[in-house]
Amino acid sequence: MGQHSKADAECVRVVVRCRPLNEQEKADGRTRIVDMDRKSGQVVLRNSKADATDPPKSFTFDSVFDWESTQKEVYESTAAGIVNSTLEGYNGTIFAYGQTGTGKTHTMEGYAAEPSQQGIIPQSFEHIFSAIEGSSNIQYLVRASFLEIYNEEIRDLLSKSPKDKLELKESRDSGVYVKGLNAFVVKSVPEIRNVLEVGKKNRSVGATLMNQDSSRSHSVFTITIETIEQGPASDGHVRVGKLNLVDLAGSERQSKTGATGDRLKEATKINLSLSALGNVISALVDSKSGHIPYRDSKLTRLLQDSLGGNTKTVMVANVGPADWNYDETLSTLRYANRAKNI
Ligand code: ADP
Ligand code: MG
Repeated sequence: MGQHSKADAECVRVVVRCRPLNEQEKADGRTRIVDMDRKSGQVVLRNSKADATDPPKSFTFDSVFDWESTQKEVYESTAAGIVNSTLEGYNGTIFAYGQTGTGKTHTMEGYAAEPSQQGIIPQSFEHIFSAIEGSSNIQYLVRASFLEIYNEEIRDLLSKSPKDKLELKESRDSGVYVKGLNAFVVKSVPEIRNVLEVGKKNRSVGATLMNQDSSRSHSVFTITIETIEQGPASDGHVRVGKLNLVDLAGSERQSKTGATGDRLKEATKINLSLSALGNVISALVDSKSGHIPYRDSKLTRLLQDSLGGNTKTVMVANVGPADWNYDETLSTLRYANRAKNI
């Protein structure tokens, strides 16, 4: 820990995805104010407000995905490489960032039932198990866990009592871990899909019981892959790779929603944890920065061994295309740009 180098910058990628105008926006006569050039990675945002005088704002990212991009394209370009390194024993993390309604869950989950609409998580299941089936001399052990961070409190979405708060612990052998978190061994795509479904159900039941809004929590689906080479050439060494698939809390400014009391307190914590994440990522890509502020939030502490060092990280910043989202879209592009810039 602590040691990081220029290589880190190459291991952090920031991409932007813009969803299509939806039916409501079309019915309301909303216009698209986002332009994207997939070749150059450029995004241009126009302020179409009546009183606006500011020129269009331009940003360039590692990749950009417009409203026509498919789930498969997004997977191939952002996730496939990370999943391959996880199979080889490295850690990796994929985040979906953005305002509520811009497509974070679409990007991470999509619709599992419709193959062309599967997001990164179900596609990674297929990828992992087809790699395992295709290999003859390596033995694999795959485990899945699923947690949520709400208000800086960690809950196990696979627990029989999902209301219990779990603690983050640190040990010399295992690094940072969540004490008591379930991790289920899964041997096939249907088994790991079932884990995802159970967790999603618990998440919505728990949210109702505790009067929570799940757009305000971070969900972290973690796949741990242990591999050991078989045969006489094997050194008997067990490799462990961990893949974290993170659907972040909505990044919208809460002042706009008129939140008060407990809701406002929650909102402050969400903004804190998202800015802590932004600070960690920008420290990682800035090779001059020596200190990585992992300890500033539960999320960054939890993911400490999967951010930086020998790991790969992708942040998918999701935006909406429509004029009414101008302020939030600009704020997301700025956040993403800061996470990318040196
Ligand atoms: P978030 O998780 O960021 O709140 P969602 O993923 O729930 O947003 O997306 C909001 C709505 O927009 C959903 O109905 C979703 O199906 C739709 N949507 C999001 N991204 C796309 C896309 N790229 N193409 C088509 N529909 C999308
Ligand atoms: Mg969502």
